[in-house]
Amino acid sequence: MATTLFFNIATLGGVDRKGRLRLQGSEMAQFETLDNAYLLVKDGRIADFGPMEQMPKFDDNVTKVDADGGTVMPSFCDSHTHIVNAGSREGEFVDKINGLSYAEIAKRGGGILNSADKLHEMSEDDLYEQSMKRVREVMFKGTGCVEIKSGYGLNTEDELKMLRVIKRIKETSPLKVVANFLGAHAVGRAYAGRQAEYVDLVINEMIPAVAAEGLADFVDVFCDEGFFTPEETGRILQAGAKHGMRGKIHGQELAPSGGVEVALKHNALSVDHLESMTDEDIAMMIGTETSPTALPGTSFFLNIPFAPVRKMISAGLGPAMQATIIQGQHRRAI
Ligand SMILES: [Zn+2]
Repeated sequence: MATTLFFNIATLGGVDRKGRLRLQGSEMAQFETLDNAYLLVKDGRIADFGPMEQMPKFDDNVTKVDADGGTVMPSFCDSHTHIVNAGSREGEFVDKINGLSYAEIAKRGGGILNSADKLHEMSEDDLYEQSMKRVREVMFKGTGCVEIKSGYGLNTEDELKMLRVIKRIKETSPLKVVANFLGAHAVGRAYAGRQAEYVDLVINEMIPAVAAEGLADFVDVFCDEGFFTPEETGRILQAGAKHGMRGKIHGQELAPSGGVEVALKHNALSVDHLESMTDEDIAMMIGTETSPTALPGTSFFLNIPFAPVRKMISAGLGPAMQATIIQGQHRRAI
């Protein structure tokens, strides 16, 4: 069992003596620190910390790291990424500058379907190598835990390919990696015009296949205008739950389209985007176990309003923020 002691820490940040799982509302303004501190880590978990003058004596079995007056603080936990992809889509940025909407670009075969075509052509090994470059980038910029979604496969085989790559990243990267199955990101090309059949495919074929290989911790749906309905979203979340995958959805990005309601109904871990969130949505989320997640990079990229984060905090919610945005590393195509 590995134990490591960090000592001579000038400032230890993010100290929480109450062991709270999440901070909400005015609590989010608190960031407790401790000066001239030590920190003890046992088997990857914080076992003890305190001021240097109260540091116990440790024997030679404990690895000792002199922080030499440095700062120790929590790493970013990025709860929403599409880090596994087969190439960026900056070409579409011109369309956006020219005023085409997200829906118009999607209708022209761009957006998610374009990413799926590129991913289909790429081998699993190349996909892994390319994705690892991005993983290393975010790691060196301070991310310690990253959620990674599938969703550029849009058929069973390619969704599994993405999730296997995520599994390899989990096994080979020092980051903590959480896998999220997003087969319902868009309707796959082969099912154009047959959305109901595609939803059935996600429920009856993809989810059981993903579960059989133990490839995902969560299930995700793009529940929005022009994509999946709250009813379809509910069915997919239910199917995921049967296989031990909790929901985490994309919702209220393009329109107030029932995303929050369906997320709450199925006790999703989070509802992400929320650029079109209403005051009613905010009121509905108070006191629930579902976290709102804001993706400010999407607003920059698509030139749409920002999620009302200040309003959420004032109402007592604790929104999460996509950390790769903070780092200028937004890799989500749309
Ligand atoms: Zn996303």
